[in-house]
Amino acid sequence: MGSSALPISLQDKLRKSQGYSRLKTLSTNLNFLRNIIFALFLLRYLRKSFYLVRGYGIFGTLTIAYSLFRKRAYQLFLRAPGVRSKVDKHVATAITEIEDKLAPQGPGVTRYLTLPKEPWTGQQLDAELGQLCEMKRTRWEDGKVSGAVYHGGEDLLKLQAKTMEMFGVANPIHPDVFPGVRKMEAEVVAMVLSLFNAPPPGAGTTTSGGTESILLSVLSARNKAHAERSVTNPELIVPSTAHAAFHKAASYFNIKIHVVPCPAPNYRVSIPKVRRLINPNTIMLVGSAPNYPHGIVDDIPALSRLALSYNGGIPLHVDCCLGSFLMPFLPSAGFPSPFAETGGFDFRVPGVTSISVDTHKYGFAPKGNSVILYRSKQLRQYQYFICPNWSGGVYGSPSMAGSRPGALIAGCWASMMSVGEAGYIESCHKIVGTRITIQNAIIEHPILKGSLKVLGEPSVSVVAFESVDPDVDLYDLADGMSSRGWHLNALQHPPGIHVAVTLPMTKGEAVERLINDLVEAVKVEKEKADEMRRSGTGFQGEKKRGNAGALYGVAGKIPDKSVVERLVVGFLDTLYKA
Ligand SMILES: *Cc1c(COP(=O)(O)O)cnc(C)c1O
Repeated sequence: MGSSALPISLQDKLRKSQGYSRLKTLSTNLNFLRNIIFALFLLRYLRKSFYLVRGYGIFGTLTIAYSLFRKRAYQLFLRAPGVRSKVDKHVATAITEIEDKLAPQGPGVTRYLTLPKEPWTGQQLDAELGQLCEMKRTRWEDGKVSGAVYHGGEDLLKLQAKTMEMFGVANPIHPDVFPGVRKMEAEVVAMVLSLFNAPPPGAGTTTSGGTESILLSVLSARNKAHAERSVTNPELIVPSTAHAAFHKAASYFNIKIHVVPCPAPNYRVSIPKVRRLINPNTIMLVGSAPNYPHGIVDDIPALSRLALSYNGGIPLHVDCCLGSFLMPFLPSAGFPSPFAETGGFDFRVPGVTSISVDTHKYGFAPKGNSVILYRSKQLRQYQYFICPNWSGGVYGSPSMAGSRPGALIAGCWASMMSVGEAGYIESCHKIVGTRITIQNAIIEHPILKGSLKVLGEPSVSVVAFESVDPDVDLYDLADGMSSRGWHLNALQHPPGIHVAVTLPMTKGEAVERLINDLVEAVKVEKEKADEMRRSGTGFQGEKKRGNAGALYGVAGKIPDKSVVERLVVGFLDTLYKA
């Protein structure tokens, strides 16, 4: 602008006004920007609130708000001066009890807290190892343990020990040094893919256990959603009965998890509720075949239809960790296979994109074995970790661990070859048959049928029951079974006990003893209740509770779980008390 001819004062004014108008436009622009940011912010919250209300319904959202409020109120209450010291005292006592039980340190216990100065002799080692093996414990050999030991046969154990001897040094991270282990790992995956009817591009890897398989399935789905749809706030939808490993995955990988109820009478995941929770951030749906708590198989074909009804499809994971080598053999062993009419539970169902299968459960492999299967190589690739710039060299690893125990892969391969299809069918027959025996006893036995009720319709190795008799507190019953030498599993929401049948429980008199002890334990609970009524001591005073009673009884009923969490921390700490 040719303003040099203007008087100084005017020039000055003009400059000022120009500057002012520049400032003004800047401020309008800023205002505009601020409004946009505010609108985006608002939109984000509106969108979030919309998905929340659509997902859980108005009533559900209010319930969530109320339970948050209640939890907060309890937190404050538990922190109140008088209450706090009392709670602390109870927690300390409970933890001491856990320590005394799990890590006793009496005069008879020699603790080794530093390396021996001189190497131990073979004799010393034999003696000490023998003692460690014989420490007072629950007898899985007598079939008194639910789950945990799935086969336990002497010949198989010997075979697994032999693979440890032959492949103890092997590490699949060096496939050129240990080519045999590479071959066995690939074959384990191929055999399991075939068992679960994977189509030709199917792929998978072995892992250290069901948890790692599940972590990887979630990781793969998260990476897929990020790579293909730029999802940055991933969300996962799981049944309330899905394994805790999905919560672990959500926690490790910073994923929001939605838990869908599995209502009575069939205790399967509610498909309409899953549908309502799906939104553009959803990375994966989950179904179990069967779930751990109740041994019930979710409606996988219905989940598949739902997953496929979205553009491009949403990945669907089937957790067959527990079902492992039982689910595929149900028809050959003479039992109905869940959802056989509508497509089944494996890759024959078109929407299923990944399946976790624990070879170390009913595959009878040594502990530390599982497989994660995918419908395509691309999905498997999403779990790979690659670090091209590392100063230690270009690095790539298929799963979570770096070095891995080749001996365990050899043990898995050898176990599968040695049991073979015929062996798995026979085991399936025995195991599922025994589960049915227990289930029938609960339904038919004159003492049990009035007090206990089987949850839903189990279809594989697990049967779970609840109490329908106010005189029989389920957790006291669980403690009663513990005192009779049984290791069963306590459940919550609803309170229950489950038995996972494994081969040792199908042998000898184990199952008759289980039923007899259950009858006795129920009788004792009923007598206790009668006694209380007669003496009029009713429900005053605290009754002495066992472990399950303590954890799920008073502490479990408080909405704020901090007390339960403190007990669990105490328990975990105890595991490392040398
Ligand atoms: C056992 C189990 C898992 C987890 O397996 P781990 O081997 O204990 O890590 C996952 N899902 C189900 C249904 C299971 O029973």
